Amino acid sequence: MYMEKYLDVINACRFCFMCRHLSPLGNVTFKEADTPRGRALIMDRFRLDRANMNNSDYIQTIYESPLSAACRFHCVSHYDEAGLMLAGRKDIVEAGLAPEAVKTLAEELKQAQFKVEGAGKVLYYRDPYSDNADAFSGCKVISGGDTGKALEVLGFSADAEAVFKRFKQAVADSGCDTLVCSCPASYDMLKNKLDGVKVLHSSEYIEGRKGSGQVYLLESDYLKNYNNMTSAADMLIRLGYELKPFGTNREESYTAGEAAVVYDKLYPRLAEKLCERIVELADDPGKDILVTASPYTKAVLKKYAPQLKVMLLDEIAVKGV
Ligand code: SF4
Repeated sequence: MYMEKYLDVINACRFCFMCRHLSPLGNVTFKEADTPRGRALIMDRFRLDRANMNNSDYIQTIYESPLSAACRFHCVSHYDEAGLMLAGRKDIVEAGLAPEAVKTLAEELKQAQFKVEGAGKVLYYRDPYSDNADAFSGCKVISGGDTGKALEVLGFSADAEAVFKRFKQAVADSGCDTLVCSCPASYDMLKNKLDGVKVLHSSEYIEGRKGSGQVYLLESDYLKNYNNMTSAADMLIRLGYELKPFGTNREESYTAGEAAVVYDKLYPRLAEKLCERIVELADDPGKDILVTASPYTKAVLKKYAPQLKVMLLDEIAVKGV
């Protein structure tokens, strides 16, 4: 089983409650099951007896994790609680026990076919949540669906690889040697897998125009917790904005499920709850300018918290506030 590579995590997390305050879902459901300790206890049950995988509540809990990795990032020993969830999902899929909604969504994601349009030496990947064409008007654009990252986080590794192969071929056919994406999840996958092509997150590519004023950055899970990158904050400071700290601490994830890639499609009510927490923590909702690097986070907040003023990093760099 894939989860057996994470026995150290199971053993460490199942009796530890140190990072419970950083579990985004635990902070809105108040359930112990929605913390790294609760999930590690479930995985321990799977490890001890595979028959426990037939418990649909356990399976659902593993899939409901938003995978923010805030707990791993701030764990003093960096135990890979997010990696344990991904391994567990692969085991669940191989056992044929993924929830029906997950299987249905996976079937849809498998259909991705990519096309390249426009002209330019740089290729911009427009992910399914993006609506930000302006920042990339001089680029070729590749679109057509998720790159395989969503299937990967759902545990469908072989299908993720098949979709990624098609994406990779379309990138090769474009003749571009640089690919830029706004979506931090796609960036996380492509920078490790797209050989021979320079992959940049938009925060590393867009020069932007000078601005001023106070903004609140909702740190991306994939940029911060998975890649230890500060490029989004660096960009805002370089452009002249004053960064105000959001929420009660700088460790918590305020992305509404960005790292789970398609969280709103599977768990809209939970995504809504995560948005409600962001509204609760905003100093002055409706007035504060919240900036996110993630098209997913912007789209979900726009849907569930329309009273907030949320801007994509790319958008603020091109248009200002
Ligand atoms: S990730 Fe670290 S702090 Fe969190 S439960 Fe596991 S061992 Fe404890």
